[in-house]
Amino acid sequence: MQVKLIPVTAFMQNCSLLVCEKTMHAAIVDPGGDLDLIQTQVQKSDASVEKVLLTHGHVDHCAGASALAAHYGVPIEGPHPDEKFWLSLLPQQSTVFGLPQVQTCAPDRWLYDGDTVQFGHEVLEVIHCPGHTPGHIVFFSRKSRLALVGDVLFSGSIGRTDFPRSNHIDLILSIRNKLWPLGDDVRFIPGHGPMSSFGEERHTNPYVKNYVTAS
Ligand SMILES: [Zn+2]
Ligand SMILES: [Zn+2]
Repeated sequence: MQVKLIPVTAFMQNCSLLVCEKTMHAAIVDPGGDLDLIQTQVQKSDASVEKVLLTHGHVDHCAGASALAAHYGVPIEGPHPDEKFWLSLLPQQSTVFGLPQVQTCAPDRWLYDGDTVQFGHEVLEVIHCPGHTPGHIVFFSRKSRLALVGDVLFSGSIGRTDFPRSNHIDLILSIRNKLWPLGDDVRFIPGHGPMSSFGEERHTNPYVKNYVTAS
């Protein structure tokens, strides 16, 4: 699987272009805006876009989803249905964050924990990781040992939980109980900032590193 990161919007959100190397079919994850940049990368990669995937309903992750899906004539898959209220608030979110006006977004398929999504021959597992937002999901390629974690986890930090219906405890439990078991070797693309691995964060991230017990 080829992976291309395309930072978009004033928030430098990591939109990802994933391409199946066997079929050159692609998925675009979290197109928050700057569609011209995304479309240029699609052209350069010579891929044919098969679907748009969303981790959660924040405007910097999904403001471009409807327009991009319409442009390529493809469906939008994700997030989890608990994210409906955030998607319905997209127009208000764009006003609050000073981003271009955007309409609400209605996914063609809601995703649940344990679901899989496919493009070309690539399969991504869906992991429901509430906390930052209630319907946040993570996409995991078991074959590539790569996770796309949105705003759940960052290099050295974790997602904000000061939004309506955020929950700090849920977020910590999502990371510890659902991400760590995937393996220390798993590298991840966060919604913002540089990539890292679960092993690196388990050892160094002050918000979620393993407790050291005194003997
Ligand atoms: Zn977010
Ligand atoms: Zn974000």
